[in-house]
Amino acid sequence: MGPIRQLVDRVRGQLLAPGHEDYDRARRVFNFMIDRRPAAILRCAGVADVIQGVLFARRQQLPLSIHSGGHGVAGSAVCEGGLMLDLSGMKGMRVNPERRTTQAQAGLLLGEFDHETQAFGLATTLGVVSVTGIAGLTLGGGLGWLNGKYGLACDNVLAADVVTADGELVTASASDHDDLHWALRGGGGNFGVVTSLTYQLHPVNSVLAGGLSFPPEQARDALRFYHAFASVAPDELSMAGSVSRHPEGGPTVSIAVCYCGPFDEGERVLQPLRDFGRHAGGAIGPMSYQAFQSGPDSGFPSGRQHYWKSSYLKDLSNESIDVLLEFAATSPSPYTGIGLQQMTGVASRVDPRATAFAHRDRQYDFLILSQWEDRDDSDRNMDWTRRCFDAMRPYLREAVYVNNLGEQEHDRVRDAYGVNYERLAAVKTRYDPENVFRLNHNIVPGVGI
Ligand SMILES: Cc1cc2nc3c(=O)[nH]c(=O)nc-3n(C[C@H](O)[C@H](O)[C@H](O)COP(=O)(O)OP(=O)(O)OC[C@H]3O[C@@H](n4cnc5c(N)ncnc54)[C@H](O)[C@@H]3O)c2cc1C
Repeated sequence: MGPIRQLVDRVRGQLLAPGHEDYDRARRVFNFMIDRRPAAILRCAGVADVIQGVLFARRQQLPLSIHSGGHGVAGSAVCEGGLMLDLSGMKGMRVNPERRTTQAQAGLLLGEFDHETQAFGLATTLGVVSVTGIAGLTLGGGLGWLNGKYGLACDNVLAADVVTADGELVTASASDHDDLHWALRGGGGNFGVVTSLTYQLHPVNSVLAGGLSFPPEQARDALRFYHAFASVAPDELSMAGSVSRHPEGGPTVSIAVCYCGPFDEGERVLQPLRDFGRHAGGAIGPMSYQAFQSGPDSGFPSGRQHYWKSSYLKDLSNESIDVLLEFAATSPSPYTGIGLQQMTGVASRVDPRATAFAHRDRQYDFLILSQWEDRDDSDRNMDWTRRCFDAMRPYLREAVYVNNLGEQEHDRVRDAYGVNYERLAAVKTRYDPENVFRLNHNIVPGVGI
């Protein structure tokens, strides 16, 4: 363990080094393409451990990575030869039902968060798979089923407790460290270790939700319909389309919806979707928000190899649909899907400079989500993913959701932060001039100011 042994006496949480029986499990992240070996993993028991970890890594000039839910596809939660701060055990949460707020620690997963807020009939926008971490998701933006009505997850962050590069704990909010509060809402893990987030909650109980899937012969029309329907959807309706390979060949399309307003109005809004085509399976109906939120979990088990390519797509033209269908039909893995998750309503109307999350528009988060089981299949799957992305390029924006960026995509970091890059670089320079927090989609201090 070397000098890392000195840290043992200063922390309450466990320190795992290579050889410890839990080490290999703890260093694993969701994406099994990532196989890095930190010098040590600090399972933080609380804020004091985070402070000690940051100060120690800085003194020893060790690479420092931050692991909350471990779902980042780039795998930046785990470092090679440095100190990994593992916050996944920090799951404290307190809901204030009167104020409709909650303070939630960084180790919580989406489903755990929903479990606590739903006890009071409350929720806020998070993502669509319940085992994702709230921290990484929120700091990058957070696009989920309530975005049309309540904005992105980051739009609902009232405050954040952050351990900065100096090992100081600061609370960033509209009234205190407002520059940091601005930067954390879309700027990712660049500015410090966020130990807890305070969110605005909203009354959400049951929703009118579900999904319908369409067979190959209807795939083209289903995507055309999806685009037309999404273009006029009210704020209460957030949708996600996806295209994948049908088990019997050809492309299949699915459309998932979540309506969070009054049900009678929702039924009226959703009628055109119910009336469209002959869907092959699925259903839409009233269900608890929490149940809907965990519905897709089985499609994303931990332990697969993942390689993603992504951008924003505004107009789902007939030409782009042809490309999507052709590639979906030839995808090498049955688990792979091409997602068209909708950004809409309130999330799309926020001023691009109001928070660090710049890419505001009614558009799709276009994501080729390639996943497969066997490492030996990697070349084939990655090659298909790159070819699909290249073929789609003419229709995509030069912009990308930071949380979809892969580990090799350093050249796209500016595209991820868009018009806010310069201001983010200024905040970075103020809070982390030595770039202690660099294992992320990195904003380099001083550059671009
Ligand atoms: C199956 C799946 C489904 C997804 N669905 C959605 C979705 O619907 N909507 C959506 O918006 N995104 C979605 N994502 C993307 C998701 O937002 C990112 O993977 C996000 O990074 C997950 O957060 P995490 O805490 O699990 O990440 P981790 O892997 O733990 O962290 C990733 C990075 O985030 C930063 N970070 C994490 N925690 C902290 C912290 N406490 N302080 C400072 N920096 C921190 C660090 O830079 C870290 O390297 C999905 C991902 C997966 C794998």
